[in-house]
Formats: sequence, structure tokens, C-alpha cells
Amino acid sequence: MERVYITTPLYYVNAEPHLGHTYTAVVADALKRYFQSIGYEAFLLTGTDEHGDKIAQAAAAAGSTPKEYADRISDLFRSTWDACGIAYDHFLRTTDTYHQEYVQKILQKIYDAGEIYFGEYGGLYCYGCERFYTEKELLDGKCPDHQVAPDYISEKNYFFRMSKYQERLIKEIQNKPNLIRPERYRAEVLAFLREPLEDLCISRPINRLQWGIPLPFDGKYVTYVWFDALLNYVSALNYRGGDSLQNLWPKAQHLIAKDILKPHAIYWPTMLMAAGLPLYDHLNVHGYWVMDSGKMSKSLGNVVRPLEMKARFGMDAFRYFLLREMAFGQDAKFSEEALVTRINADLANNLGNLVSRVLAMQQKYFAGVVQPLASEWAREDLELSAKFAQAEIDLNSYMADLQFHRALESVWSALDYANRYIVQTAPFTLIKDLGKQTRVGEVLHHLLEVVRTLARVLAPFMPDSAAELRGLLNIDLSVLTSRWGEAFSAGHKVNPPKVLFPRIETDTNK
Ligand SMILES: [Zn+2]
Repeated sequence: MERVYITTPLYYVNAEPHLGHTYTAVVADALKRYFQSIGYEAFLLTGTDEHGDKIAQAAAAAGSTPKEYADRISDLFRSTWDACGIAYDHFLRTTDTYHQEYVQKILQKIYDAGEIYFGEYGGLYCYGCERFYTEKELLDGKCPDHQVAPDYISEKNYFFRMSKYQERLIKEIQNKPNLIRPERYRAEVLAFLREPLEDLCISRPINRLQWGIPLPFDGKYVTYVWFDALLNYVSALNYRGGDSLQNLWPKAQHLIAKDILKPHAIYWPTMLMAAGLPLYDHLNVHGYWVMDSGKMSKSLGNVVRPLEMKARFGMDAFRYFLLREMAFGQDAKFSEEALVTRINADLANNLGNLVSRVLAMQQKYFAGVVQPLASEWAREDLELSAKFAQAEIDLNSYMADLQFHRALESVWSALDYANRYIVQTAPFTLIKDLGKQTRVGEVLHHLLEVVRTLARVLAPFMPDSAAELRGLLNIDLSVLTSRWGEAFSAGHKVNPPKVLFPRIETDTNK
């Protein structure tokens, strides 16, 4: 059986789950369900990153110990993903003992191999980013992320010989064009690698920071938070035991937002090389959600909270919007107006309306009993089934490139076709003609096949709605993959319609 290992980044526990985190989690979940639907064994890892300066500071500000603080926010992430139906297989916390032990084991291994050395480093340090900056990286002398001038600090630290792996990393990226994707991020990484790569400072002295994993070879230092967190992708599998590591490791598909490209595209692969492990399969990089009302911030009151969205619009409708609206890799705009427009147009009017019309007619004309198909299908029937077959082929090729929005677009283009098919075949008119009832039964049978196809292809994107469609059709999973025309046995009865996606009334469309 083919396998795939999907990961979200470990979410940093300095903030509560918001739109950016939710998007990555939803994409990871949809991808996992998609791979399962095409026969893969899929494993999804998520979790929380809990060490470092920023957590220690946030905990102090909240009047708690770092561990208490991390426990609270980590629980919040886990319960949010549970409530959102994110089907993760393992939730890792970097404060878990097994992870800390694994990080120390790898550090010791790399140290013993001579790949970590002790040295002095002075430089411009941003406390917000927890890293040193070169002059060139600063904007007007300030950290581009925090708009704060970094402090000059000098101290003795441990360094990972990252520079040694520069040539090999360039070759790996050149030899595998989709190792980092989409292309723009691969190009960005290769451009960065044109400059000499520096060694990576992987320690922090405990007189400056205690909240971290102690270095196994020097108790006066803790591990730099990235060197700790990145190893989660392997430590989780190591912890799961059995064949998890052998089966899943090189099959990794990492999902990240573009702000953490460098640690994942440069630190992580060179760490893997030093640890003697193969590289991941793909690093998949997405853009930012840009708020219509400006940058998302607590003070502006425009923070998008996943559970609030779920309560107001339904989780599947929210998932649909996220996956349909953003072209993976690029930035996308978020506004409630756009969300409501999509829900009303695509879900309530198009998908929801088609399903309820078909089921209502089936109920009214045939008491829900599916009628037989003709031995020879009419031209429009053949076209309808061909249109959905093509949509599924397109969907598969878009999904291979993580083009979720195009995958959904192809399904909706087939849906548009199905709506035209209803107009064209006009079962609601034909039914008045006693001699045409057999044809009405055939038309509705083909339309029920449309609904069944939707229940199959939409399942990775909108799992709850897909299950509802199955319920309405009164079928189980085994029938989902039957060929068109072969799913419903003689006398099969479908259920009456129900509203799947209520239309959302707003001030402007009342
Ligand atoms: Zn900074």
C-alpha cells in the first residue's frame, strides 16, 4: 500500500488558534482525506511548539510558569482541532518527554560526529525572532518582522556546521524540482543559497534562557527552539514505534506558511543530512490570509477564530471557503462578505439547491424509489456522466499540485452542467405526460448518480456534508465507488430532501 505522511507545523503557543493556523490544519486534513480516498495509508501529525524566549516572556506576562502557560494554549489547539474535525493521528508537544529525549539523542549523535562545535558569536539579536540578524537582513536597521532595532550581543555558543551542507542542499533542490513548491518558494530558497551559508547557532546559555531542552553535552545551555521543534517530524514517528519511522519518514509532505520557509527549507534538510536521514518528499508552502480590514490583530477586533466561524457558518462551509478562495502558495483576502457570497452562491444556491430539487422530485414522483435506467442512455445522459468523470480526472491532477481551488472549481463546473441538464430534460414538465414517466425515472436516476458522485469527490473537502449526502441517498461507503448506473439496486429508496446549506441573510441581500 502506498503511504503518505502529512504534517502541519507545530503551532507556537504564543497565540490562540486563528485563521492562519486553521488554514494549514484544514489543508492538511483535506489532503489526508484525499489521499485516503485514492487508496493511500495516510498519517497526519500536528502539535505545539512550546520552548523559547517568547513563550517564557508570554508566560511571565500572564503570571504563570512556562509549563502551565504552554499546557493551557496547547490544550486550546488540541480541543480546537478536535471540534473542527481535523483528523490528526498524533499530536506532539515539544515538552513531551519522548520528544526531548529524541532531540538530545540527535544532538549527541551530531556532536559526536564533529558536526557541532563551540565558538564565540557576536551579532544583532532580535528577541522577538529569537535569532541573530545580519545587517543586510534588517530594514532601516530594524527587524523586518518586529520593527524593533535588534540588540548587539556577544556570547559563546554551540554551532551546527550548516555551511558544510550548502552544495549538497543546492543539488538536492535542483535535482528534485518539486521538493519545495510552489516554484516561487523554491526559487526564493535557491536565490538565498547563492550567498554563502553560515553555520547555525543551536544553543542559548541558560543564564539568558532556561525554558528549553538542555544540551546533552553541556548543561549550561539549552537547545535553540528551531533545532528542537523541527525534529518533531521524526521524533513523533520514532515514538509511535513499530514500522512508523521506516514506512513514513521519507514520505513526508510538510505544510507550512511562507514565514517559516527558511527553517524548513534550509535548517531542516541540512539537519537531516547531518543526522544521516533522507530528506522529506515535499515542502508545501502557502501564503497569508490578508484581512480586508487590514492586518489581523486583537486590538482591531478582526481576529478570525475557527470555532466562532464554525458556530456561525458551519465547519464545512468555512472549510469550503478556505480551500476554494486561496490559490495555494499565494496570498488571499479574507472578508466575511466574500465568505457569505461563496456560501450563498456555491453551496446554498448551486450544490444545496440541486440536491434538494432532485430528492424532492424523486419523493414526489416515485415515493423515493429509484427507477431503472434504459439499456441505451440518451446523449445528454452520456454527456452528464462524462462531464463528472472528467471533473474527477481534473480534480486528481489538480490535487497532485495542491491546487485545491482548481480541484473544487472542476467539480462546480460539472455541477453547473448538471443544473443545465435539469433545465434541458425538464423532468418537472415531462412528468405531466403519462407516456414520459419512464424517462423521468431515468433522468432522476442519473441525477442521483450526480449526488452520489458529489458525496465521493467532496468528502475530503467537506466530510460532514458528504456524509449527509450519503445519508440522503441511503447508501453506505461501499456503494460510493460503484460505476455510474450500477450503484442503486432495484427498489432502492432514497430519503426526502433537507436543507444542507442554509442561505445566509445579510443586510445587503435580504
Ligand atoms: Zn524580529
